[in-house]
Amino acid sequence: MNYQQTLNEINTGLDCAKFGGKVANYIPELANIDPNKFGIHLCCIQKGNYSIGDNEEKFSIQSISKVFALAMAYPMLGEKLWKRVGVEPSGNPFNSLVQLEYESGIPRNPLINAGALVICDILISKLKSPKEDFLNYVRGLAGNEDIYFNEKVAESEKNSGYRNVALANLMKSFGNIENLVEDVVDFYFYMCSIEMSCKELAQTFLVFANHGAHFVTGEKILSESQSKRLSAIMLTCGFYDQAGEFTFKVGLPGKSGVGGGIAAIFPEHYSVAIWSPKLNKAGNSVLGMEVLERLTTETKLSIF
Ligand code: GLN
Repeated sequence: MNYQQTLNEINTGLDCAKFGGKVANYIPELANIDPNKFGIHLCCIQKGNYSIGDNEEKFSIQSISKVFALAMAYPMLGEKLWKRVGVEPSGNPFNSLVQLEYESGIPRNPLINAGALVICDILISKLKSPKEDFLNYVRGLAGNEDIYFNEKVAESEKNSGYRNVALANLMKSFGNIENLVEDVVDFYFYMCSIEMSCKELAQTFLVFANHGAHFVTGEKILSESQSKRLSAIMLTCGFYDQAGEFTFKVGLPGKSGVGGGIAAIFPEHYSVAIWSPKLNKAGNSVLGMEVLERLTTETKLSIF
């Protein structure tokens, strides 16, 4: 498969002006991003890196970090994890509060904000220096030390993150948050502020395309079963209330973030990351979804 040629053809055939979308501005610091940034990076398990545009420029990975938090917490707690968070799509926006009240403070899944806050709570309880340890975990997965939090983005979200504070408080009232709400949301905001490039994200996601085995060291980060389950959650819940449409159009497990990034995997073959900051109403990158749809259509390769 000549992925570079396919990516070039997709890029040439893309009339970017035709696609709408808006840069996220509810986190003020994210509103400063150039809406026309565009990068793609695809990494094959059997070696081979293919890219387009701003693939080496770092951006705010936002909710894509929820996958890393889940990957870190799952082996720590094992199946007990699922007592505190579910595995069903929410069919609601990522920051919605409504289901939590009906469902007694148990979030639908770990990839919406409420579920990720529970995962953050677990990590805070388990880790000595939560922020530092988490960052080092991501660096380890990426095989790259040059990955950092963006303090400005974390602060900006802290100053505007009323819904996340509300979610954490509501879950605390149901007994599903062990630590102080302020510590949980602080960790969460830092986690979301991590910056990575498409190249770094694609390389990091290779572990999920590789049945949980690290792409350089071969170390088992997740068991086969854990890796299967994590991918299943990405497929069914990675795009909030648009998870069905993403699977329908693209046919790969993946995760989006409001920084405009999407990372996806074709198990046993490749991982791919796209960055284009203009989002649709569900908070997913408009061009990111379009490019991935064209990629699986052109290559005739998806998990289905
Ligand atoms: N930090 C963002 C928030 O909590 C993450 C949301 C996202 O990327 N979908 O609102």
